[in-house]
Amino acid sequence: MVTFVSTYLKGRKPDEVLSIMKDLKVDVVLDVRWWVVYPLYYNPNIELKPPLKSFHILLTENKIEYRYEALLGNPSELRKKYIDTGNWEQARKAYCDWILNGVYKDGTEIRPIFNGYISAFKSLWKDKVICLLCFCPTEDSRYCHRYWIIELFKQYLKSD
Ligand SMILES: [Zn+2]
Repeated sequence: MVTFVSTYLKGRKPDEVLSIMKDLKVDVVLDVRWWVVYPLYYNPNIELKPPLKSFHILLTENKIEYRYEALLGNPSELRKKYIDTGNWEQARKAYCDWILNGVYKDGTEIRPIFNGYISAFKSLWKDKVICLLCFCPTEDSRYCHRYWIIELFKQYLKSD
């Protein structure tokens, strides 16, 4: 059975996050940040020069698979509308609706991406520990979309 865990990046150095991943026995990191430009060592689209090391490279060297999926992030528009106004229950609903019905501005539908992960959790990653990764420093499931999508994943894994 696939196991879901999650953690955050804010205020943590890559080595510190790596050791959290090791403690949790993580096999696959699923980075679900909408925006990943800074801090630079957590930007999966660049590779820092030695002695600096990008976090995604560090993970790979430690045999932890890294996957970045921006479209499972919580879109800025939704964050502005609900989170910045403190409306957390609406924020969760709007995010779940985005994942199940959303279409990005280039026409990409989000649902097939979500379904693709459900398939992966049933086959290639079925015995793995998956860590959902976000920037925001909360361990409270009311306040970050990484918890909301874990609930959705579990619900859809159970339903068929
Ligand atoms: Zn978050």
